[in-house]
Amino acid sequence: MPIQVLPPQLANQIAAGEVVERPASVIKELVENCIDAGADRIDIHVEQGGSKLIRIRDNGCGIAKDELALALARHATSKISSLDDLSAIVSLGFRGEALASISSVSRLTLTSRTKDQNEAWQVYAEGRDMQAVVKPAAHPVGTTVEVLDLFYNTPARRRFLRTEKTEFGHVDEVIRRIALARPDISINLFHNDKPIRQYRAATSTEQVERRIAAVGGLAFIQNAIKLEWEHDDLNIRGWIAETNNAELQYFYVNGRIVKDRLLNHAIKQAYQNQPQSENFAYVIYLDVDPHQVDVNVHPAKHEVRFHEARLVHDFVHQAIVMALDAKSQTQQDFIS
Ligand code: ADP
Ligand code: MG
Repeated sequence: MPIQVLPPQLANQIAAGEVVERPASVIKELVENCIDAGADRIDIHVEQGGSKLIRIRDNGCGIAKDELALALARHATSKISSLDDLSAIVSLGFRGEALASISSVSRLTLTSRTKDQNEAWQVYAEGRDMQAVVKPAAHPVGTTVEVLDLFYNTPARRRFLRTEKTEFGHVDEVIRRIALARPDISINLFHNDKPIRQYRAATSTEQVERRIAAVGGLAFIQNAIKLEWEHDDLNIRGWIAETNNAELQYFYVNGRIVKDRLLNHAIKQAYQNQPQSENFAYVIYLDVDPHQVDVNVHPAKHEVRFHEARLVHDFVHQAIVMALDAKSQTQQDFIS
């Protein structure tokens, strides 16, 4: 076969293999777009575990009419424009791949309105040339993305989907992660028209704790020690508890969920001198200067690279040690 440039849809479908594994991964990408758009309300409707329909509506900034078709193109993003921007990412997205990938393996409709427009516009892309047609629509300021029949044209992927229940379980987990990451955003999740999760936007510390309890359980928040420390460009907040159930482990770096050996090590080490500490449940938010962390590691893996890994490790470790000390101090005060 001669060398040839692949047609756009095929190139997008190959790229989709990286990030679009199942309905839950579609929802992760789409909800991250809502967050990047500054939405404070996100409604998610899912049918048949997401394989039939995913509809996500936000009240964010919207997409201008003349950029709608572009939003579906590969490598098209409003979030970075230079290598400099790439070295200090402040948004969740930046690759400009998600909508192109998802629309190449589903029937995707994008409807949006910006605050400067009196009317909304809609774009739909299907077919081999990925030509997008823009037409008028009704929609308040914000965006709705509808994804029908995921993998309808890639039967090999479709076969890998599990039962409706399993797929919805993954969806629910993605929503938990996001609900913990952003208690300030109101999030509603429906499955087959039934309301499943309704998280109201938290505006006070008390309401934030209520959100954490709603997702992580009341016992977690009651048993947890509270982290709160700031030093130079590093800021840590959150809760950590010893537990037999290590399912609740959420570590966010600049709002992005991260699974990091280094950070796990920092936690384990902090608990070294505590009796019976085998497993932990935690919800921890670490904010660092975006220049100090590289998020461009892999589109689907939850990995980041810290420029000064040791410093970050020691900071997290120290924050937990201090919180543990504070706790044993109050216990001693109580006894004496
Ligand atoms: P990325 O998020 O990496 O930029 P995407 O393919 O996810 O790439 O989205 C492409 C572009 O479409 C975004 O950069 C953004 O400008 C626009 N966009 C996508 N979803 C939304 C949304 N919900 N609200 C506003 N703009 C959006
Ligand atoms: Mg995106």
